[in-house]
Amino acid sequence: MSLGTAIYNDLGMKKGSVMAILSPNCLEYVPVLYGIMMVGVTATTLNPGYTPGEIAYQLNDSKADSIVIHAALLDNLKKAEPELIKPLKHVVVIGDKPENSEHLWYDDLAAGDGESLPKVDIDVKRDIALLPYSSGTTGRPKGVALSNFNLAVNVTQTQDGGLMPIEHGVKQLALLPLFHMYGLLMCGNIGVRSGWTMSILPAFDPVEFLETIQNDKIELMHIVPPLVVFLAKHPLVDNYDLTSIKSIFSAAAPLGRDTAELLAKRLPWVDTIRQGYGMTEMSPVSHLDSDQPTMGSVGVLVSNTEAKFLDPESHEEIEVTPGQVGELCIRGPQVMLGYLNRPEETDATMTSDGFLRTGDVGHMDEKNHLFIHDRLKELIKVKGLQVAPTELEDHLISHPSVSDAAVIARYDEFAGELPKAYVVKTAGASETEENIREWLNGLHAKHKHLCEVEFIDAIPKNPSGKILRRLLRDKEKASQAE
Ligand code: ATP
Ligand code: MG
Repeated sequence: MSLGTAIYNDLGMKKGSVMAILSPNCLEYVPVLYGIMMVGVTATTLNPGYTPGEIAYQLNDSKADSIVIHAALLDNLKKAEPELIKPLKHVVVIGDKPENSEHLWYDDLAAGDGESLPKVDIDVKRDIALLPYSSGTTGRPKGVALSNFNLAVNVTQTQDGGLMPIEHGVKQLALLPLFHMYGLLMCGNIGVRSGWTMSILPAFDPVEFLETIQNDKIELMHIVPPLVVFLAKHPLVDNYDLTSIKSIFSAAAPLGRDTAELLAKRLPWVDTIRQGYGMTEMSPVSHLDSDQPTMGSVGVLVSNTEAKFLDPESHEEIEVTPGQVGELCIRGPQVMLGYLNRPEETDATMTSDGFLRTGDVGHMDEKNHLFIHDRLKELIKVKGLQVAPTELEDHLISHPSVSDAAVIARYDEFAGELPKAYVVKTAGASETEENIREWLNGLHAKHKHLCEVEFIDAIPKNPSGKILRRLLRDKEKASQAE
């Protein structure tokens, strides 16, 4: 690999400097990333769907002084430039040869034989190798400082004990975005370590997705819950031969038992449908299902990792007994160095004894399987009782007339908050909003009853499949103000 040599010798980038990557998934993505990190330069990965303003935010926040960018995204970078505090030193283009003579071409830089790779003194536990940003679901994305050790250890933790296949040649679909830690671990680091054959897709297109599985005989897929819903419910799926699939992993956002069971029924030849749980701050995995998964659970702790619970109200430590609900905290070698330049947020996230507060609430069963209920911040409080939106969403999605759903809190004078659902109807379904509300309420205790169902065309989500509830809350507030 000689990109590292070029970055170090020709571009003069040294340890401590930051190089950004802005690209959809492509063959060059992982080699570029490794080339940067190999010479001690910190890599920061950007969402290719970012607007020019969002690009400028991350480049400024991370203090990236150079970028590797896909040719198709150059216009966005150009539009971001007026907001950049400093002009970028180097712009390296992947894909078509750049017309602008100030830009460098990846193919030229990577053309050497790699023999002269410089020897750089890297502190694998302390230097920042990678600076991914959290998804920005609950606020502005934060730069998460990860060391080489964090990254390497999470690869082995994830494969220890047979949690993830380790043999060569497994046919894997690499559709998860590589800029996000879930995609980078599963479709980058683990795939490369194990020698899997990856079919790389730059974006989700229903036909291309199904055709790739069929034609490339995909065996292993790492996906996110919206894709589980797609596979479980979309009529197109019946037109393809998907019998090569042996194993499906879902993570990054909640996947309910009902949705997982729908998928298991539709693709009965699939050996396992498993979940994992993690956060960018944990490089990213702390929990994975074994090959005998418990539906609805996100699995058990990976190796060398400890968990404890805090009381969601008092934040005091509580005993972890089966069924006890608490905020999950994790300690292990995969936990980040800290947030970049945000000491207060780092302090608020880490406990004094070195555990990371995940902000997620859940419980364990007798066999230490973890069940995530929801984010602490998203729980709806109805007359003092907590309602997890994800539970209601999972049941809604199991209804044949519902293709997608999201639940948010609506302010209520008497109850404090009440759950309201936004629902995307299946094409041709004749149900009314009221029918669906009554059906769901019939399944639950009174405090979980929906105050309203509103039909909507699509549920806003980010690329890792997380519902952007804050956008729905804004919509709700706007409609209340009318
Ligand atoms: P931000 O921290 O910027 O608001 P984010 O938390 O969405 O964004 P990520 O690091 O991408 O950023 O996501 C981590 C979160 O994803 C976890 O805290 C959890 O809420 C959710 N999550 C991940 N895996 C699962 C899972 N299997 N089930 C439920 N939730 C999950
Ligand atoms: Mg987070």
